[in-house]
Amino acid sequence: MGEEKRWHDLYPNEIPTSLSYDERPLQDFLKDTASQYGEKKALYFMGKELTFAELYEQASKFANYLQGLGVEKGARIAIMLPNSPQSVIAYYGSLMAGAIVVQTNPLYTERELEYQLTDSGSKIIVCLDILVPRVTNVKKATQLEHMIVTGIKDYLPFPKNLIYPFIQKRQYNMVVKVEESADTHVWTEIMDKAQVEYEEVFVDPVEDVAILQYTGGTTGYPKGVMLSHRNLVANAKMCEAWIYEMKKGEDIILGVLPFFHVYGMTAVMNISIFTASKMILLPKFDAGDVLKTIHKQKPTVFPGAPTIYIGLLNHPDLNKYDLSSVNACISGSAPLPVEVQEKFEKVTGGKLVEGYGLTESSPVTHANFIYEKRVSGSIGVPWPDTDAKILNMETYEEVEAGEIGELAVKGPQIMMGYWNRPDDTENTLKDGWLLTGDLGYMDENGYFFIVDRKKDMIIAGGYNIYPREVEEVLYEHEAIQEVVVAGVPDPYRGETVKAYVVLKEGFHVTEEELNTFCRERLAAYKVPRIYDFRDELPKTAVGKILRRQLVDEEKSKAEQQ
Ligand code: AMP
Repeated sequence: MGEEKRWHDLYPNEIPTSLSYDERPLQDFLKDTASQYGEKKALYFMGKELTFAELYEQASKFANYLQGLGVEKGARIAIMLPNSPQSVIAYYGSLMAGAIVVQTNPLYTERELEYQLTDSGSKIIVCLDILVPRVTNVKKATQLEHMIVTGIKDYLPFPKNLIYPFIQKRQYNMVVKVEESADTHVWTEIMDKAQVEYEEVFVDPVEDVAILQYTGGTTGYPKGVMLSHRNLVANAKMCEAWIYEMKKGEDIILGVLPFFHVYGMTAVMNISIFTASKMILLPKFDAGDVLKTIHKQKPTVFPGAPTIYIGLLNHPDLNKYDLSSVNACISGSAPLPVEVQEKFEKVTGGKLVEGYGLTESSPVTHANFIYEKRVSGSIGVPWPDTDAKILNMETYEEVEAGEIGELAVKGPQIMMGYWNRPDDTENTLKDGWLLTGDLGYMDENGYFFIVDRKKDMIIAGGYNIYPREVEEVLYEHEAIQEVVVAGVPDPYRGETVKAYVVLKEGFHVTEEELNTFCRERLAAYKVPRIYDFRDELPKTAVGKILRRQLVDEEKSKAEQQ
């Protein structure tokens, strides 16, 4: 692998090219941290703090309670919670009971929820009180036997008579009262009644699945990605090595990325547990709330996504807040416009670098170095123990530096496979190499660049167009807050280029002006032919713009005509 590993020569001295992974179950790391840093704060949520000792104790009670319900090794437990103390406790508690965690997005519709519960065979779900009606409606069609119900109110730091006004002010006003029954279990009762002792279950970190993480992957329909304990431990350890200026027990990590997505799970929750850092939990993204939280709670590490940083930079009160505590930010999940990177670094005085990954790789495989040698516009270099290559799209042979092809990655963070889908696994994992479905190239120095997703590439009049290149140009325009470019059906060119644009407040720009702007910077065939000005763009839970949803809307419109 000598040739392919040349990027490791670039590593700063502080980052080893290979790490030791301590082949133990993920939950052991919470136990370790609780015994060494028990009095340190583990998390902060709306004014309430828990120490690592308290977090471990409550996770142990949760494990004990699950075992009382008959949970055995390998049982699937669905967790449908926003970031909250409960989301961390239920996750680690389930693993301690030997179960497999199935993360479920609280925004799922009944249809999506039913599919995921059925496909994973989950018998228990932990959900928010306001989600009870939705869960109840799908229960019959699934194998669900028990519902564990909790609410934001369960961890607020003040007396009960003040909780409801607080919740209403914050618009968490749909609190539902839930009664205990044989199949409905109330969180506060569990924490009151359960014992701290639970039965230790033998877990093989390499062979046993820790979580099933649902994703569309390259084929589009949702599949459960099986990530082992080793996969998750390896990626958290890599994160720790990468942000090498972290000090155990001293850092504060901002948790605005949802933990039900693998990115927030690894880059906020698990790394906090590994490094004994305090995590600041925010249940949803609201730019004003995030700014206030940074000002008051002074996080040092802030993993995010481009739309999150863009949202903050465009907030009218940005200048009123002190953001100088922020040292290190890794942006993933979508391309990071260079403009955004530079502006965000200016307002925080910290570093913001781009990384890359996917659910199937726990998720991170590449990132730029944080404190030196970064290359803007690049996703950086492969992480320790991680190999990467670019393959010809037809022959699957490795291509030369500079040539575009499909990115393939290999390393201890790569998934075990897809749950109950051996064909999909076989098509995606080849000799341990994960085919990412992303198109990119490696430059002469070993830095990688993503040009697009295989299926997002636009073919217009026989030309290949990579939406990202067009988006980068449009982001340079002062009036544009957000933009996504997609290929839409066209009777003459097969597809044509369409830009969906959100303008910054107070700005106005015409199609003509954007056209001229693009023509000065792009070959004519890449210039968008259609502009669609919108108030907002559809996004995933981690803030990735849903290009596919826009294309599908377009297709169904075309079909109806
Ligand atoms: P997910 O499985 O939801 O984490 O989505 C993974 C996909 O997000 C990857 O396959 C890429 O298409 C995209 N992605 C992640 N990071 C980046 C990045 N830095 N630049 C471009 N695309 C990215």
